[in-house]
Amino acid sequence: MTTAIYPGSFDPITNGHLDIAVRAARLFEKLIIGVYATPNKHLLFSTEERVELVKKALAHLPNVEVVAFAGLTVNFAKKVNAQTLVRGLRMSGDFEREFDMAMMNRRLFPELELVCLMANPEYQFLSSGLLKEAASLGGNIETLVPKHVADALRKKVAER
Ligand code: ADP
Repeated sequence: MTTAIYPGSFDPITNGHLDIAVRAARLFEKLIIGVYATPNKHLLFSTEERVELVKKALAHLPNVEVVAFAGLTVNFAKKVNAQTLVRGLRMSGDFEREFDMAMMNRRLFPELELVCLMANPEYQFLSSGLLKEAASLGGNIETLVPKHVADALRKKVAER
């Protein structure tokens, strides 16, 4: 069985992430979304909240699983017996970062193959960071995330 992992911070999941996940789920028998518990960035949502938001967004796909992980991505891949690592590539800035990470991952786990899917033109400039900034300033983010994520964002912003 071909199993792929799609790791990320997903703080929170956007329509850009969702598009990559839906496309990857068509390519592989099983897709495991790895929600990185301790990224080197300021988080708005807890790990549990991020996992729940991703789960709800992908509940309609039977071959998708969502789990939290910590530590090296390659160790997570080994643990779940994945052969492939999926990442999304946007035009601005992703390539160099992904290339560096891919070279390191290749050294650590040469058998893990990387598949990068080009971001949908509609979501090329969508990032969780910008999304959070827009939401915190009262911007309309409805077309950029699933409804339950927009609701969760609004609630978080109101609590702060
Ligand atoms: P990370 O902290 O690993 O960068 P992110 O949640 O920001 O986690 O992104 C996870 C993956 O999804 C990365 O491969 C990233 O390039 C990709 N991604 C993020 N936003 C988009 C988008 N709008 N369209 C396509 N891919 C995206």
